[in-house]
Formats: sequence, C-alpha cells, structure tokens
Amino acid sequence: FHGVVAIDGPSGSGKSTVARRLAVALRAGYLDTGAMYRAATWAVLSAGIELSDPDAVADCVRSAVLTITTDPTAVSVRVGDVAVDAAIRGPEVTGAVSAVAGVPAVRAHLIAEQRRLIDAARDTGGIVVEGRDIGAVVAPDAELKVFLTADPVERARRRSAETAADLNATAADLRRRDTADSRVTKPLEAAEDATVVDTTYESIDQVVERLLGLLAQ
Ligand code: C5P
Repeated sequence: FHGVVAIDGPSGSGKSTVARRLAVALRAGYLDTGAMYRAATWAVLSAGIELSDPDAVADCVRSAVLTITTDPTAVSVRVGDVAVDAAIRGPEVTGAVSAVAGVPAVRAHLIAEQRRLIDAARDTGGIVVEGRDIGAVVAPDAELKVFLTADPVERARRRSAETAADLNATAADLRRRDTADSRVTKPLEAAEDATVVDTTYESIDQVVERLLGLLAQ
C-alpha cells in the first residue's frame, strides 16, 4: 500500500482505534492529527500564554518543536524533549484545544507539517491519517476517505470508559467541543466524496473489515 487513507469524525466515533488497526493491517503508517493540536495546546498552556491572544498562541506553536511518530504500534508525541503522551489527554489540554485549533496561523502551520509527514510516508508503505479535516483539506487526494459517526450517547459512553471520567460530564464536554470545532473546521462534516460509516452498532473489527473491503474495490 502506498496511498493515503483519511479518517475523519468527531471524538468517540471510534476514529483512533479504527485508524490504528487499519494502519497495522495495511502495514502502513499512522498519523493522529488531533494529537498534534493537543501537543500544540500543551506548549501554549505550559508557556503561560493567554488563549485570547491569537498572535502569541501562533508564535508559540510555530516555535515549539513538535515530534510525532507515525508507527501505529508505538505512537509517541514530544514537545522539545518532553514526552507529552499522557498530558495531552488531560482535562486542561482537552478544555483548551478547540481554542488553539481555531487560530488560522496554528492550522496553517500544523497542516504544512502534516502534509510533510504524509508525503514522506507515500514512499514507505502509505499512511492512515485521522482528524477532522483530512479528507477535505489536508489530503484531498486521499485514495480512501471515511467519515465515522456514532450516536452521541454511545460516543460519550466510549469516551468516559477510556478516560474513567463521569458520563454526564463527558457528554457535556463532547457537545461543547463539537460546537466549538464546527466553528473552525467546517469539515466536521464529511468531505463530499467520503464514505460515511455509522459505528454505533458495529464493532471495531467490523468497521476495519469494511474499510479494507472499500480499499480492495
Ligand atoms: O481527535 P481529538 O479529539 O484528539 O482532537 C482534539 C482537538 O483537536 C479537536 O477537538 C479539534 O479541536 C482539534 N483538531 C482539529 N483538526 C484536526 C484534528 C483535531 O482541529 N484535524
């Protein structure tokens, strides 16, 4: 496989697990663009920068050295020398990430970096890329574009099982993030040529099988 698979969808849609498993099945790379926005947010918060100052936020993100692996079996994210894998899943980063991702200069910077990683992977076994705007903006020429959805109650159930956080608080946080994200990344809606897959009643394995079938067509 030498192509690009774009997997978009909201949090709790099964995106990360499906994307990683698909990458393993294809022996391809894997890129979690949400982790890049989260790492950028960690850099901004740890520098003590006001989220209400977009120029300062953008300067900080541009000067931070973000490193992300593209091995689906060994995902790791660093900011400078600091491994931030755990910290970027915490409530502080989750609460601030939509604001940072909403700064256009931040998006331009991270999208350029994402395209560089995707181009590098084309020669080395292809890549599965997950995010919000991959099929529509980052890699519009992807060989397969998928948009995963799931019932909001099921999404909150999955997320709270992952984070051990309260179900109602998680549901409220997902609603808030959906609204904030849809203001900046219109492609919280699917790219026009994406295949929409509802994962509410399907297991991860079933979804992965379905995507492998689409790629074989
Ligand atoms: O996928 P995940 O929930 O980790 O994404 C975290 C946040 O990063 C999203 O809520 C969104 O604000 C931002 N994001 C984005 N564009 C992407 C991926 C993530 O704006 N391609």
